[in-house]
Amino acid sequence: MDHSASPLIFNSYFKRMRLNWRYGLFPVRPDFLHEFMKKVKKSPLIGLNVTIPYKERIILYMDELNEDATRIGAVNVIHNREGRLIGFNTDSLGFRWVLCGHLSFKIKKAVVLGAGGAARSVIYSLHTEGTEEIVFFTRSKARLKKVRRDFAFITGLKGYLWEKVKIKEKAREADLIINATPVGMFPYMEETPLDIDFSIKKNHVAFDLIYNPLETRFLKEAKDKGMTTENGVRMFIYQALESLKIWWKPQVEERLFIQSSEEVLNATLLERG
Ligand code: NAP
Repeated sequence: MDHSASPLIFNSYFKRMRLNWRYGLFPVRPDFLHEFMKKVKKSPLIGLNVTIPYKERIILYMDELNEDATRIGAVNVIHNREGRLIGFNTDSLGFRWVLCGHLSFKIKKAVVLGAGGAARSVIYSLHTEGTEEIVFFTRSKARLKKVRRDFAFITGLKGYLWEKVKIKEKAREADLIINATPVGMFPYMEETPLDIDFSIKKNHVAFDLIYNPLETRFLKEAKDKGMTTENGVRMFIYQALESLKIWWKPQVEERLFIQSSEEVLNATLLERG
């Protein structure tokens, strides 16, 4: 959990707006999650973000889910309405924002590496944006079955067990390859979920949801091959903006939030190298 840059962007915005608000990290051990959620209900906290690896498990503690969170089966934002916990999914909004606003190619075929909370948001968003074939990979048979079952309404969805040759075969044919695993994240920056040692198509896009480091090994190899690349920064900022709008509806100054977040993230992450 302490990899999260959320406190940086929220607290920097609160400071600029002269708000007496504070965003903090609560690292929670799995065996303490139940106790922690009981405490949250009675606390004055307005809301929480949920991160790896709790986005699916946290649903158990929600009193209500919004439509996206229900369809996706993962929650990354909680609104505490006087002890009633409402679960939302803004990862999907962040991903869609990047897909539609910044990647101007029509994505017909996509490969998603991973099948956790973020991968579920990505799969759902690709489906809502009309991607015809979505192929995901996981190491876990149980997850494979679950994602296939939960997303049975997505006709173009195919899932496979993690197998390098198969991943490359599918990645070669795809317009977009998304890393929705934590592989390559700080401090394990020498790792990559996929060696890009195959020929690519025109307008091939590699999207890594990781934002720390700004350029993962996966993205560097993709860029060296001539692919268009996108890191997780824009998605991260946008999902945060949507979180803040849930907790504190109309008052968010969107442009200022995005600008202040870009500044603080780029400065901090570039400094870390
Ligand atoms: P999660 O729910 O724990 O899922 C992680 C997925 O990655 C699972 O499918 C998992 O295992 C797979 N995985 C983990 N280690 C692997 C390895 N060594 N090889 C192959 N697969 C591996 O986590 P999450 O919440 O989905 O987050 C995933 C990543 O997305 C994280 O890096 C997170 O920081 C990033 N993220 C970024 C944003 C953003 O706004 N930019 C938003 C959300 C998440 P199985 O093989 O068992 O399926």
